[in-house]
Amino acid sequence: MRYALLADIHANTSALMAVLHDIERQVEIDGLICLGDIVGYGPNPGRCIELMRMAQAATVSGNHDLAALGKLNLSYFSPDAAQAARWTVGQLSEADSAYLGSLPTLLLVGEFTLVHGSPRQPAWEYLISLGSARQNFTHFKTPYCLVGHSHLPLVFKQSGGDVTFIRPSEHAAIPLEGFRFIINPGSVGQPRDGDPRASYALYDTESRMLRFRRVPYDIPAEQSRFFQAGLPLRLASRLEQGI
Ligand code: ZN
Repeated sequence: MRYALLADIHANTSALMAVLHDIERQVEIDGLICLGDIVGYGPNPGRCIELMRMAQAATVSGNHDLAALGKLNLSYFSPDAAQAARWTVGQLSEADSAYLGSLPTLLLVGEFTLVHGSPRQPAWEYLISLGSARQNFTHFKTPYCLVGHSHLPLVFKQSGGDVTFIRPSEHAAIPLEGFRFIINPGSVGQPRDGDPRASYALYDTESRMLRFRRVPYDIPAEQSRFFQAGLPLRLASRLEQGI
């Protein structure tokens, strides 16, 4: 089986379309996995939901998806994120809301446990340190856990009693054979590692190789949609910086 791993699309259609085209050029996949935050921040929530539904992606909900359903107190959000979340609520059709409402916070797919934040706290925890990775390895039973939320491509490897950190470089191929891993494929729609290109990963269960990909997309075109929607300017400008 070949999977494409996507996270944190954040209503950015330009980035999502670029990633879907890149996947098509790379391999014929058997399944698409989405690690939550389809919506929030960005100007095209409905279209991104539609694309994930059409692709029959195995999806968990993220904190921004919950916010768009009114299931989350927006005082936990930055003012820009809260403004975008309120705008998003008004954009969703009944079918969009029903779809987001149907998503679980944790899902098992083959060898993977899927969550948005961490297996310990699926909607909230940022899994970005060795300490939190060490603790979270005890909170799932499958060989691999897939996370999003931090918008950073990251890999934590458990071998014996030790946990090590791998920062994947572009197009890095990482063999998963024989160890347990926590993997973040990075963010499609709002990368925060200083590289503005959309980030995702591919995994082949036969070769057991994980490959990270970066994909350029038309950022000015996407930014103009932010302006038309009246979304906070800072949310548009951060796209070109990858922060
Ligand atoms: Zn996010």
